[in-house]
Amino acid sequence: MKYYTCEYCFNEFEPKRRRVQKYCSATCRSKAYHLRKSNQNKTADLTPITTTMHTALPPPPLPKTKIESISTAGIGNAAAGSLLADSIKSIFTPLDNKPATKADFKLLSDKLTKRYHLVKNIPTRQDGALPYFDMETGNVVYMRGRV
Ligand SMILES: [Zn+2]
Repeated sequence: MKYYTCEYCFNEFEPKRRRVQKYCSATCRSKAYHLRKSNQNKTADLTPITTTMHTALPPPPLPKTKIESISTAGIGNAAAGSLLADSIKSIFTPLDNKPATKADFKLLSDKLTKRYHLVKNIPTRQDGALPYFDMETGNVVYMRGRV
C-alpha cells in the first residue's frame, strides 16, 4: 500500500480516495489553504521589502574634493598669499607653541587688513626703497622706510 505524506502536517497517511490526496484530512487541507492564503498575503507584503533588499543601491558618488587653485591672475596675488601665509605661520608658531591669544589675533587682523606688506623676495631698490605689496591695487610698490 502506497502512503502519502500530508503536505501540511507531514504525517504519512493512507489515501482514502484514488485521486491524489495532498493532505491527511480535511482539517489539514483547510489549514494548508489558509496558510497558503496568508503566505500569499505575506509574500505580497514582503515583495517591496525583498526588492529593496536585493536591489542594492549604488554607492553614493564620492564627494569630489574641490581643490581651490590659487588665482594666477596676477603674480601679486600669489605673492600676497605666500606673504600672508608666512605672516600667519610666524604668528601661530610661537616658541612655546602656546595657543593663539587675543593679541595674536589682533596682530593677525592687522596683518590681514594692512594695505602694504613688505615683499621679502624682491631686492631693495638702489635708492634704498623697499618693495611692498599693495593689497588694494595688487601691485608691488617701492617706498622708503617701513610702512
Ligand atoms: Zn495532515
